[in-house]
Amino acid sequence: MRVALISDVHANLPALEAVLEALGTCDALWHMGDVVGYGPHPVEVVERLAAAGAVGVRGNHDAAAVGAIDTEWFNEDARRAIEWTAGRLEPATRHWLEALPETLRLGDFTLVHGSLRDPTWEYVVSASSARESLARLETPYGLIGHSHLPCAFRDDGDRVITLVAEDSTEIGLDERRLLFNPGGVGQPRDGDPRAAGAILDTEAATVRWFRVPYPIEQTQAAMREVGLPRRLIERLSYGL
Ligand code: ZN
Repeated sequence: MRVALISDVHANLPALEAVLEALGTCDALWHMGDVVGYGPHPVEVVERLAAAGAVGVRGNHDAAAVGAIDTEWFNEDARRAIEWTAGRLEPATRHWLEALPETLRLGDFTLVHGSLRDPTWEYVVSASSARESLARLETPYGLIGHSHLPCAFRDDGDRVITLVAEDSTEIGLDERRLLFNPGGVGQPRDGDPRAAGAILDTEAATVRWFRVPYPIEQTQAAMREVGLPRRLIERLSYGL
């Protein structure tokens, strides 16, 4: 089975379209949350994912957009974007977001947005935070998002190994536990502005990162049109 792995689409439809096109035909589409927030296309992105049969979990921005968590925990720009998003949601979009679970088990994989310890808020960006999550995994592998950084952490017994993605880097899945982050579709933060995603091949037992360019200026123009914060518009150019 070929499974598309995506996270942090953040209401960026051109980035999502580019990633889905690069993926081609897949047997399933799994996402690790933050479908909305920051970007200008919350309704369109939810509709596109629903039409593609995507399954996944709720991110902190998704939860805030439907009023499930308080926006006071977000910085000023993120909060403004969430408030704008909340006003744009249609009933069907809202229901789709509200139905997302915090944690989802699919075969050998556990999906969370942040971490196994704190699915909503914790960033897994170091071996020490990864160790806490790896210890809580009840499946061989965990799929995470939230940091927007394509990276992975492998339990090597007495230590946790950090694996960093470069274009098309492939990781073999074996008996060692692994946490895997495909990177961010709609707001990359590793200095590469291209949209990020990954492919899981269950027969070959591999996961492979990839990057794909998308028309960033289209997303930026749409953000400008609806008055989203300037800093959020600019950061897309740099992938930071
Ligand atoms: Zn995010």
